[in-house]
Amino acid sequence: MEFKVNELEQEPIEFDVELAPGAIDFGEEAEQEGNLAVAGQAEVIHEHRGPKDIVADIRLKGNFSGNFQVPCARCVEPVQITLAADFDLIFRPAAADAEATERSITAPETEIGYYQKDSLSLEDVLREQVLLSLPVRTLCKPDCKGLCPRCGENRNLRQCNCEVGPSDPRWEALSGLRGQIESKVISPKRN
Ligand SMILES: [Zn+2]
Ligand SMILES: [Zn+2]
Repeated sequence: MEFKVNELEQEPIEFDVELAPGAIDFGEEAEQEGNLAVAGQAEVIHEHRGPKDIVADIRLKGNFSGNFQVPCARCVEPVQITLAADFDLIFRPAAADAEATERSITAPETEIGYYQKDSLSLEDVLREQVLLSLPVRTLCKPDCKGLCPRCGENRNLRQCNCEVGPSDPRWEALSGLRGQIESKVISPKRN
């Protein structure tokens, strides 16, 4: 869904849509499950920079909610989560600030987004908003055992043999032998 500035100049546009999985590519960070519901309003806000310098910003306000699969931070198995958030964003035409690179950018200005040419894509905005709403760390369960760092086995499903190491009697015999070899090598040097 594209919001065209010249259409928004006529009147604000209200929207209430369901986006099917695949309409937005969230990359490997999240996979959409079922429809993503998004509703809100788009309007033009005129930024008066001077008597003849008026910039048409697009204000996009609304909310979204949808179900997603994200990888567990420890075992990378998919975890089902629901993401929902409100947004109230301002987008300035990209060209408006292109010649003003000398202007100092104050903190609030860094929060402003940009739209290219004469329209803003709802899908582009939503992709960013959904990714921003992702929890920093999702676990499939609080005590997820994660993947074995040596063989990559999912330790929730199967216990691998990697940790046997020193407690295995065969290893103890070997390390004892290694100790004997080392002491034999070192002792002649002492004499
Ligand atoms: Zn896990
Ligand atoms: Zn292992």
